Amino acid sequence: MSSKKLLSVVVTVVILLSLTLITAQERTDITYNVDATKPEDKTITVIMSINNLPDEDITISMPAWSPGSYHIENLAKNVKNVTASKNNKPLEITQLDNQSWLIKKGKGNGSVIIFYEITKEKDDFNEEHLELMGPSTYMYIVGYKDSPAAVFFKVPDGWEIATGLSSVGDGYIARDYDTLIDSPAELGKFKKYEFTIGSTKYEVVEHIAEKVKTEKFDNDTLLENVRKIAKYQTDLFGGAPFDRYVFLFHFTEGRRGWGLEHLNSTSIHFGMEGIKSELKYFSDIVAHEFFHAWNVKRIRPRVLGPFDYTKEIRTNALWLSEGVTSYYGDLTLVRTGIWQEEDFIHSLSRSIDALQYNPDRLVTSAEKSSWTAWDKKEGPSISYYTKGELLGMLTDLRIRGLTNNKRTFDDVMQFLYRWFVLGGGGSIGVGFEEGDIERAISSISGISFKDFFQKYVAGTVELPYDEILPYAGYKLSREKVMIPDFGEYSGTTIYTIPKGSPAEAAGFKEGDRISDVNGKKVTRVNYNELFKSLKEGEEVIVRVSRKKDGGDWNREDIDVKFKVVLKEKLEYSIKTIDNPSEEQLKIRNSWLGK
Ligand SMILES: [Zn+2]
Repeated sequence: MSSKKLLSVVVTVVILLSLTLITAQERTDITYNVDATKPEDKTITVIMSINNLPDEDITISMPAWSPGSYHIENLAKNVKNVTASKNNKPLEITQLDNQSWLIKKGKGNGSVIIFYEITKEKDDFNEEHLELMGPSTYMYIVGYKDSPAAVFFKVPDGWEIATGLSSVGDGYIARDYDTLIDSPAELGKFKKYEFTIGSTKYEVVEHIAEKVKTEKFDNDTLLENVRKIAKYQTDLFGGAPFDRYVFLFHFTEGRRGWGLEHLNSTSIHFGMEGIKSELKYFSDIVAHEFFHAWNVKRIRPRVLGPFDYTKEIRTNALWLSEGVTSYYGDLTLVRTGIWQEEDFIHSLSRSIDALQYNPDRLVTSAEKSSWTAWDKKEGPSISYYTKGELLGMLTDLRIRGLTNNKRTFDDVMQFLYRWFVLGGGGSIGVGFEEGDIERAISSISGISFKDFFQKYVAGTVELPYDEILPYAGYKLSREKVMIPDFGEYSGTTIYTIPKGSPAEAAGFKEGDRISDVNGKKVTRVNYNELFKSLKEGEEVIVRVSRKKDGGDWNREDIDVKFKVVLKEKLEYSIKTIDNPSEEQLKIRNSWLGK
């Protein structure tokens, strides 16, 4: 496509936009034309056209981070050839810093056209598809993030488009920049499945990479699980905060799975080998990401929206936003029958064991761990996912135990949704502040959680499993077991390699995360059984994910040969007590959704 043709498209777009957005004449609006027709170049081009912008100097910027991933990414590093023009005349443009450009627009409201290219990774953009993430695609105009935006995609023949954005004519619209970039898109050839719950439409989009196309997995069960999860969580909150929700699933090589939450969509990557053997575990990712549509996207710390993309935005509540989301992911699976009680208890037991073997639990609180999510950490560090999940469980069981099951964490979540989202602030609510969560839990349960929060959320006191688990007829058992000596480790993360140890001799390093043993994927669900099955003297290949250049986000896979040496440890796990009372059984069954 020539640039002339593109310009005429831009003009059409401008007309369409002014018809569809019904905005006041003076309102600044922005249209993005994304051209993805040249996968062979691994480059997409973006043309921004901006109308009604009064400023003489404008600054355009790429976000320094993506909502949901709390680290600075320098997304502008893949941007090149940035140019700007007005009335077909080039404008002076200067790069200000890593992510910003200054454009000398001059007087007058005439449309400004900005052109740039983005280099993509081969997995994200190739002959099959483009996986488009908002923050690494769309620049914003500083001071105008609340302006409405429209986007048009140009794709190779035969490709389709899936996104959570609302479609109008041939394009899509977003009420503001935050909405635009929180709506990823899958462009390519994919399968699409649809269902409705109440008046909400759901789409499940499956892009299966060419390399794994011939592999078979249980897609019927996966789709059924997605539907069960969506139904359960929507019912829990008494309705969905969107008319339409899109699950963007990518099936690729390998065994790992990960996801990122968005306003009314989620993008999830499934390693084909993993989903073939552990569909239950992978359903947990779906349950976690979907729950985020409420918890963090709408029930959120006040600083997380509207977003400041220029720097780290710290909150001490990620234990709630991420950890309690994991807790509800687990609860959803057991209450919908996707997991059995054993799976659920096993998952929580592994989290307890991982936390109890992490020495940082006595140093870093759940709040501090949340606050420092952005920072590079040396040595062991607790996870706000794990500790938050356990705080969710303990809070829930304490409320249930002390109210004779009349109140639960479900009541708290429903209250938070009513108060901070439905109560005002528009589609993303008003956000909560320091102290609000403790006050909400105390007032909903009628029990003071002040001391609990001081000790276990803001403090580093050992979690009160022995006091709280019995409310549901459980106890924490501590049993001697033999495990391989990979050094000092918690869960699958090695935090210390003692001098002269077998782990040091084998070549393990501090910070390594064990991902495979003899080609079998290690998950947070199966690691314990897998490790315990290894025999003294056995030769194994242990694949670890190792920090590269000291950064936690930049890792590489390393295979370590290890002749197994066993050592003793006390293993923590949740067990049922003998002869539970009727009260305990009532709480347990209600908790499990029986
Ligand atoms: Zn999450």
